[in-house]
Amino acid sequence: MRKRVVIAGLGDTGVLAAIRLARHYDVVGISTKPAFLSGQELGWRLSRPQEWARVNWIPFDRFRGLGRVRTVHASLTGVDLVNRRVFGRSADGSEVRSGYDALVIATGVTNGFWRKPELQSQADIGVELRAVHERLTGAESIIVVGGGAAAVSSAAQLATTWPDKRVDLYYPGERALVQHHSRVWDRVSRRLQALRVGLHPGHRAVIPDGFNGDQITSETVRWCGGRPTASADAVVWAIGRVRPNTTWLPAELLDEHGFVQVAPDLRVAGHPDVFAIGDVAATDPLRSSARNRADVVLARNVRAMFTGSPLREYRPPRRRWGSVLGVQPDGLEFYTAEGTAFRFPLWAFNRVLLPFFVRWGYYRGVRTNDPLSQRTISPGGR
Ligand SMILES: Cc1cc2nc3c(=O)[nH]c(=O)nc-3n(C[C@H](O)[C@H](O)[C@H](O)COP(=O)(O)OP(=O)(O)OC[C@H]3O[C@@H](n4cnc5c(N)ncnc54)[C@H](O)[C@@H]3O)c2cc1C
Repeated sequence: MRKRVVIAGLGDTGVLAAIRLARHYDVVGISTKPAFLSGQELGWRLSRPQEWARVNWIPFDRFRGLGRVRTVHASLTGVDLVNRRVFGRSADGSEVRSGYDALVIATGVTNGFWRKPELQSQADIGVELRAVHERLTGAESIIVVGGGAAAVSSAAQLATTWPDKRVDLYYPGERALVQHHSRVWDRVSRRLQALRVGLHPGHRAVIPDGFNGDQITSETVRWCGGRPTASADAVVWAIGRVRPNTTWLPAELLDEHGFVQVAPDLRVAGHPDVFAIGDVAATDPLRSSARNRADVVLARNVRAMFTGSPLREYRPPRRRWGSVLGVQPDGLEFYTAEGTAFRFPLWAFNRVLLPFFVRWGYYRGVRTNDPLSQRTISPGGR
């Protein structure tokens, strides 16, 4: 009988892992979203959501590689590690259970107002995307709080899409993007200045108790150290308060911050049949396994576990790399861990990088001639 692999969470890494494993095993993917909904490219999503959705919100049935994967739209609520079963609840309240021979935990993190673990329908997702976009469309001035890639890309994309709005970026350090090579910020800050984004280093916001940046606000922002307050029609919080989506897991699997503890082979200590990958997995300080294609190592190691072969190790890089600003009207800029920049013109992104490198190379084919590709982000749209 074919072995069964359950993938918990079908986001960026869960989908990639499912596609790789489906060639060998009976794969069941359980996820709170009815489609692939990436948490990447916040700025693009906020400012040009229709375009962003084309690349980052894709119904599962459009992935050729997921053809043999059973996708279950449900929220996982627990796991029985001894009897190898997961439990969950679907949108209609019915209970979901599935046995497994191997479990892959890829439930990601909650971050701000754009990455949430709740069960959502396609219509819910569209309504939310549109509401946030309309909120920002109506604002004449926008403050972005935060110094990571999500904040920086938001400031850049908002200023690009709406050159008439006042956009200000407030970050706590001397420079933003501290997890990237310093050359990345040198280059990105010049670009932000060219876009007339106001740069405000040394501003650490006072965060009200219980607030995690999970909504766009309009109240005056106060800063630590008594700096003058700031206000705008809309305040976008991208303060990196990520929380792992692990409330469904027993504490013995988690580190002190609630992330899943894994060995370099991506296995959970004491549970050779349980793996974790992506933002939920405490692989390294940057929890970098998603962007570094650890799905390849993971799929290989699941097979090795079943066949009794040696497992490989995931080796994380020391610095962040990749795209920071996301796709802009003049293309996509990409930074290496050493801070070198590469630019793909928009035509190359649309006609080469996206269809061949991403859709075929990563995802083994994504159907585009599907009526759902006509979906809009309006309520009731798909
Ligand atoms: C190929 C690739 C390239 C990347 N490039 C870049 C880059 O250039 N720049 C950059 O900054 N980052 C990049 N990233 C990284 C990206 O920013 C994140 O690290 C990535 O989105 C995290 O993926 P994830 O699968 O861990 O989480 P997610 O994509 O968030 O997926 C988790 C899924 O699990 C679901 N879920 C949560 N709780 C439950 C539950 N209880 N039950 C069921 N489902 C649940 C969630 O709703 C979600 O659908 C890249 C990632 C990939 C894969």
